[in-house]
Amino acid sequence: MVLGIVLGVFLVAAFVAFLKAPTRRELPPTPTVEIPPPPAPPAQKTSVDAPPAPEPTVAAPPAPETVTAEPVVEEPVAAEVDVPPPSAGRMVRLRSRLARSQGSLGRGLLTLLSRDTIDDDTWDEVEETLLTADVGVGATQQIVENLRTQVKVLGARTPDQVRTLLRDQLLVAIGSDLDRTLHTVAHATADERRPAVLLMVGVNGTGKTTTCGKLARALVGDGRHVVLGAADTFRAAAADQLATWAGRVGATVVRGPEGADPASVAFDAVKAAAEENADAVLVDTAGRLHTKQGLMDELGKIKRVVERQGSVDEVLLVLDATTGQNGLVQAKVFGEAVDVTGIVLTKLDGTAKGGIVIAVQRELGVPVKLVGLGEGADDLAPFDPETFVDALLGDPAEAAA
Ligand code: GDP
Repeated sequence: MVLGIVLGVFLVAAFVAFLKAPTRRELPPTPTVEIPPPPAPPAQKTSVDAPPAPEPTVAAPPAPETVTAEPVVEEPVAAEVDVPPPSAGRMVRLRSRLARSQGSLGRGLLTLLSRDTIDDDTWDEVEETLLTADVGVGATQQIVENLRTQVKVLGARTPDQVRTLLRDQLLVAIGSDLDRTLHTVAHATADERRPAVLLMVGVNGTGKTTTCGKLARALVGDGRHVVLGAADTFRAAAADQLATWAGRVGATVVRGPEGADPASVAFDAVKAAAEENADAVLVDTAGRLHTKQGLMDELGKIKRVVERQGSVDEVLLVLDATTGQNGLVQAKVFGEAVDVTGIVLTKLDGTAKGGIVIAVQRELGVPVKLVGLGEGADDLAPFDPETFVDALLGDPAEAAA
């Protein structure tokens, strides 16, 4: 009996084991999990796969001072030539472009100084207005000091007196007696005639190429014969842009292959201008923000190479008025790299900070000679302090209304 029970249990267990066995066999095999290697950390990848990007601010060592580029001298296409207007009286025509500076600087000061009582708070506001308009700390202090003295002397002030007072002080700060002559007249002796040479320098984007084009137009409008040199050989677009400007006014443009030695292009432009018996040659240079040493080497070389054919008459530093203190810092680097003879302050139409005219002259000790007052072809004007200050202070009739 017991043996029968044991045998029965054994048989049942054996049957259950038989039933379960196929189920297990049907299970899919356990997948093999492949663990991918961890991705390499980015820093490691860069250093292995890619060489470090070339430092854009480091200039190549100066090439030996030989003239190697084969320049392309593009003669103007006569059929498409414009007749630009003369440059005289331009700043008067463009004075409304200074409206933004007029609103914040000129009107602001007129209102403050017209108050019946001018207390210390008012003088603080005068100071604030000047500083906000980028006049700079040194000039602001001087202007405020002079105004305080004058206001004390005057006592009660009529609107006309306030205006005259302010006008005089702004003119003193701007330096109405500085020599702002732009040297664009050819040098002629009994046996030779050579063109005036103007180099345009400054950071990219400030408006160098546009200024070259606008100035060429203004000179052509004044009856001069002009040649343009595209010595910004790092950007083909700059040379194309200059060629377009030249084509519009019938001027010749000299350009080199992309990457050519800028000094050799400048040299060839001056040579072509002399051969054409031109009055002036305007040379556009590259404005990469490289090291001061690189900048000095490059601009110094352009100047030396050009001087083999005669003196450089103007080195014009193009500065964007909307960049404020940053622009001034960059300008100082250029000022140390090359002897700047004049400043072109562009985009004055786009800023309420017309006081930069005062600050930049004080920082660099060089007069503003030209101002850019818009993107239009004829929106460049010789800088005239009186017209500038009158534009800032606005029309007296308007102010009284
Ligand atoms: P570059 O890199 O220094 O040669 O600068 P560009 O000549 O190419 O000019 C850069 C930009 O500034 C262009 O869009 C110009 O039209 C603009 N520009 C140049 N001068 C003036 C100016 O006086 N007023 C305004 N509003 N824009 C200007």
